[in-house]
Amino acid sequence: MSGPQLITILGATGSIGLSTLDVIARHPDRYQVFALTGFSRTRELLALCLRHTPRFAVLPTQDAARKLQDDLAAAGLDTRVLVGERGLCEVASHPQVDTVMAAIVGAAGLRPTLAAVESGKKVLLANKEALVMSGALFMQAVRQSGAVLLPIDSEHNAIFQCLPVDYARGLESVGVRRILLTASGGPFRETPLAELHDVSPEQACAHPNWSMGRKISVDSASMMNKGLELIEACWLFDARPDQIEVVIHPQSVIHSMVDYVDGSVVAQLGNPDMRTPIAHALAWPDRIASGVAPLDLFSIARLDFQAPDEDRFPCLRLARLAAQAGNSAPAMLNAANEVAVAAFLDRRIRYPEIASMIDEVLSLEPVVEVKDLAAVFEVDAKARVLAEQWLSRNGR
Ligand code: NDP
Ligand code: MG
Repeated sequence: MSGPQLITILGATGSIGLSTLDVIARHPDRYQVFALTGFSRTRELLALCLRHTPRFAVLPTQDAARKLQDDLAAAGLDTRVLVGERGLCEVASHPQVDTVMAAIVGAAGLRPTLAAVESGKKVLLANKEALVMSGALFMQAVRQSGAVLLPIDSEHNAIFQCLPVDYARGLESVGVRRILLTASGGPFRETPLAELHDVSPEQACAHPNWSMGRKISVDSASMMNKGLELIEACWLFDARPDQIEVVIHPQSVIHSMVDYVDGSVVAQLGNPDMRTPIAHALAWPDRIASGVAPLDLFSIARLDFQAPDEDRFPCLRLARLAAQAGNSAPAMLNAANEVAVAAFLDRRIRYPEIASMIDEVLSLEPVVEVKDLAAVFEVDAKARVLAEQWLSRNGR
């Protein structure tokens, strides 16, 4: 390949976005930033643009974009600032872009991530919600365009590393018995059940091993994150839900495992730092330095495992049911969860109500087939309306 690869980072101001920039900055000969996008953290996006001098930046409103454009011009930069979802799709599919890091959180990332897929890019997928919402259409678009889809989620990146290169022939054909999807159990793994009623957003966001954005931190506390990851794994590796077992492993050193019919279990280990899967996917099939410290097994000393308790983590059960139901169920689940998590972070509902709200919203609508993207967004919108109605009845 001639010259550095040009990279668009969707969600550059977030946790994954910043880790990606950290890895890229270590390899200026291999990677160059083409576009950076932000949403609410406009000052942070300005600082990132000054440091990485992208060709394009994207912000959600005309006013914010104009202000950033003026600030960049005053600093002597000719970065062009685009606006809104159209801008996101433009920088995701631009003919000059080689690789797109899809790291917008939630349903907002679906259209731009699909734009990258449809234009045949190398797509590094962090935005699991996009795949959960529209798995069948998303994977069909990958096959049609020839896009290279590489998982960033640490568990899926680990599974990808533990599978043989020809796993697309089918898991059973390559001798896989099951996928062991590891989970830390989050901050409430051992909290007495009676105390969960009073836990705060700050406690939910204080993950024992990973530093992440607020939405995924709450999802990790409720284990909805593992439920979304179960659905994500089904699509990425063409697995049935019953081929995936969730294993709680509090140290987050093993990032997932593949169990083969001959009794071999292949695991990927590493310090819990997203720069490892990011560097892996960026350079794949090569290996590059990520800045992550070598694993010190002597200081870790032990690795523990336990089965998940669905009374403690009802969101995991809801997600497994949605995975089994397929069709519109995962998109409903995802949208209801996004509303519930935002309401919990705003202190409008208590932590246990996240699960009860999602459960009730899912029970109100039949599961229907989703044939196209319009149908996916219709399901998403419907679930949000039902969730908001639930909130106005029960929330503060
Ligand atoms: P953050 O909340 O830290 O970052 C989210 C990014 O998305 C920010 O750049 C934010 O902009 C942008 N954004 C938010 N809302 C919108 C919107 N409506 N339109 C456009 N952009 C928007 O999240 P994370 O980095 O933690 O997570 C990103 C994704 O990666 C999620 O899907 C998550 O599940 C996944 N993931 C994250 C992991 C982690 O370790 N953090 C691990 C595995 C997966 P701004 O900040 O400017 O508002
Ligand atoms: Mg994960």
